[in-house]
Amino acid sequence: MLNEAYKPSEHDSFFTYFNWGQFTDEEWLLCPPVVALGGDGAMYDIGFQNLSRMMASGKPIKVIVVDTQVYSNTGGQACTSGFMGQISDMAQYGKVWQGKPEIRKEIGLIAMAHRSTFVLQGTLANTSQMIEGFIDGLMTRRPALFNLYTTCQPEHGVGDDLGTHQAKLAVESRAYPIFTYNPDKGIKVEEAFDLSGNPDMEKIWPTYQLKYTENGREKSMELPMTFADFALTEARFRKHFRKVPRDAWNDNMVPLAEFLEMDASEREDKFPFIWAVDRKQALSRVLVAKRIVESCEERRDFWIMLRAMSGYKPEEAKPEDIEGKIRAEVVGKIAQGLMKLAGGNGGGIVNLAMGAPTAATTAAAPAAAQSNGEYMAPWLETENCTACDECTKLNPKIFAYNKDKKAYIMNPDGGPYSDLVKAAEKCTAQVIHPGLPKDRTEKDIDKWVKRGEKFN
Ligand code: SF4
Repeated sequence: MLNEAYKPSEHDSFFTYFNWGQFTDEEWLLCPPVVALGGDGAMYDIGFQNLSRMMASGKPIKVIVVDTQVYSNTGGQACTSGFMGQISDMAQYGKVWQGKPEIRKEIGLIAMAHRSTFVLQGTLANTSQMIEGFIDGLMTRRPALFNLYTTCQPEHGVGDDLGTHQAKLAVESRAYPIFTYNPDKGIKVEEAFDLSGNPDMEKIWPTYQLKYTENGREKSMELPMTFADFALTEARFRKHFRKVPRDAWNDNMVPLAEFLEMDASEREDKFPFIWAVDRKQALSRVLVAKRIVESCEERRDFWIMLRAMSGYKPEEAKPEDIEGKIRAEVVGKIAQGLMKLAGGNGGGIVNLAMGAPTAATTAAAPAAAQSNGEYMAPWLETENCTACDECTKLNPKIFAYNKDKKAYIMNPDGGPYSDLVKAAEKCTAQVIHPGLPKDRTEKDIDKWVKRGEKFN
């Protein structure tokens, strides 16, 4: 079979000690991955020492953790992955105990401490971050841990069809920040650690619009999405909340996000609450118990810690760039008009030169111009936007709604080029075109240009 090429005297010793580490990169990519799958009970708690030993070994074994924050298949006992205040077997609610008293164990950080393990923490809320993390983690010649937020409907107390919805809320409320840690990207934490994909990076709590009805009229208000706003939607936390009848509202009640900013003396005689709506869409105030306040503080602090690890630095407030805003809108409209003339999405037909203040500097260019490193301004077919919120949530500094609730590019420089590509990927109406980046020094820029190509 080996055409007599195998000579025991020459080859025996090599094949006696041969292992995966001697594969070439090409041979490595042909190997099917070895994947282990377990719940958080198995990986965070009962089997943790084995998981740790495996990660320390450096062997390229891939582990998926289905993180439901509770022992789902043995009756719902408390797990170290659970949130503070979460009510379950062995973390009951009563006079002495009010749900789980300890903070959540962050297995992603523990995996990072092994220093050679690829880590993905992801959810269905952001499928592109999750799939990209799977690909990178499966391809790397290292151990990989994929820690995935997973709803357990009976233990969390949510509807069977709400898995994706709750995962989104978990990310938006900082209950479950998503991230990757890829040691192949550098030895500094900020090189290897990537927090992108979380909404409103610059804020402690992202915001959302609460719609309600008052005197027969529909209204809405913008509110911070705290951990408590997420917890209110699940039965596992419900005992920590109490709805207040309207006639009992008083001045000592303080919105939770404000309460969290107060020191101990300011908090005296104050009662934190969050806004909610009842079945008739009427506005109500819901009091938040101490344990959930503590849980909010813990999730807030964890978010601040992750942000610092990612090297994130809040931008200094800049004066509003009115001219830039108008220019971006004008450029968007011109591009849209040209695309209509071209009779389709244009397939790279428009090249908008950097700094183009008027239509006079807008030039049509062949698709080949896209790959020559030129800047091409992003554009958005505003009229065809279906207001799905994906882009405005992803980066409200780049995308905003106009008065007709149609998205437009408010500031093309409001975030990294990767956000434009991600928004294009998420846009349900496929109306976002990321153009080409102005700054080619951004992290992984070639990869993002490649991903953005098909949307231009
Ligand atoms: S993602 Fe697309 S459809 Fe959704 S709001 Fe943005 S532009 Fe409109």
